[in-house]
Amino acid sequence: REILLEVRNMKKYFPIHKGLFGTKKTNVQAVDDISFYIYKGETLGLVGESGCGKSTAGRTIIRLYDPTAGEIIFDGADISSMTENELKPFRKRMQMIFQDPYASLNSRMTVGDIIGEPIDIHDLATGEERQKMIYDLLERVGLSKDHASRYPHEFSGGQRQRIGIARSLAVKPDFIICDEPISALDVSIQAQVVNMLEDLQEEFGLTYLFIAHDLSMVKHISDRIGVMYLGKLVELASSKELYEKPMHPYTQALLSAIPIPDPEVTHAKQRIVLEGDVPSPINPPSGCRFRTRCQYAFERCKIEEPVFQDMGGGHMVACHLMDGDKA
Ligand code: SF4
Ligand code: MG
Repeated sequence: REILLEVRNMKKYFPIHKGLFGTKKTNVQAVDDISFYIYKGETLGLVGESGCGKSTAGRTIIRLYDPTAGEIIFDGADISSMTENELKPFRKRMQMIFQDPYASLNSRMTVGDIIGEPIDIHDLATGEERQKMIYDLLERVGLSKDHASRYPHEFSGGQRQRIGIARSLAVKPDFIICDEPISALDVSIQAQVVNMLEDLQEEFGLTYLFIAHDLSMVKHISDRIGVMYLGKLVELASSKELYEKPMHPYTQALLSAIPIPDPEVTHAKQRIVLEGDVPSPINPPSGCRFRTRCQYAFERCKIEEPVFQDMGGGHMVACHLMDGDKA
């Protein structure tokens, strides 16, 4: 299979000033050295609690942020240090759908103009052709052309998400980052939006990076799933593997927290409670970043960072327990 996107040792640090009069300079290590790839036409799920760096990773990949380090290879081209001018042809191919469909749509613009904006920016069509594109897109996401003259506030959350999706499709992208696109929606609407995203993927040959804070939300749509904790990838495997044989203690805890018992998740009968919050990415724990919340933590975890290694068949895990070590 062909790889569409490859991320190599990507970091995104945000500099901040601390201390009296902000004299101390330090960094928020939002994304700290992650590597993975996505095949053409695949959906890679990316999960973790909020503050784990998932959205930052997504925004850095499509160069809404400049990476601090690492490479981002999109369809064979390293886009990580391209100038805005060089990026232009890639901007069109990479789109993002946001969590809050209301905040991400300009409330003063009609739905038609919202969808037409990327068409204008990228000079794709004008006049009647542009109008037809907008109508087609509205219909494709289950709305109608009569909706083009209305404003975002006249629509429900689910409909607004459809408008956001139509807008992202306007430029005929190859790759879409779906940043928690269903988290803010009613449970009854979530499945509809996920099904629509799957249909669109098939029809247009789209590749997705699907971000969620909850493993149950990505299970059905993802071919493979990556789990992030405090800026690091801790596990990555096919959806099936990850659900049936989670190896990292953090993944095991996330799976056990899925509220409705899933008959396929037999190992998680015992609920593992994750104590406390995710520590600050300004001063993350030494060694394994998960150690302050890990029930298996031992001496080595404090000193040495576990390597993200292939445990067989592409099932990647970063945990010292994988070496057979224990306290
Ligand atoms: Fe837990 Fe240690 Fe594994 Fe980290 S490396 S997940 S602290 S056992
Ligand atoms: Mg987020």
